Amino acid sequence: MCEGVEKEKYRVCRKCLLKDLSEKDYFQNMYVYIANLPEDDRTGKEEYERRLSKCRECDHLLNGMCRLCGCFVEMRAAIALRHCPGSPPEW
Ligand code: SF4
Repeated sequence: MCEGVEKEKYRVCRKCLLKDLSEKDYFQNMYVYIANLPEDDRTGKEEYERRLSKCRECDHLLNGMCRLCGCFVEMRAAIALRHCPGSPPEW
């Protein structure tokens, strides 16, 4: 498959608001965004899983979102430079 077709398949819509998307489309969009993060920006697989395991145990996690920062933790944890907003931070 040519690179252009492959990229089109994983294109992220940057024009839609959450209210314009179905829940399924919204989460699909988020996973596509994570998958397309530049390698240099992305958290390594092991560290990503470690971060998510901390979130799973955390009282601030609600429906996939961190109640301290309002981020979906899977997205926040996927970006290497991001950190947990807790005090002290869990990751
Ligand atoms: S406070 Fe930190 S560990 Fe807890 S849900 Fe938010 S990002 Fe995850």
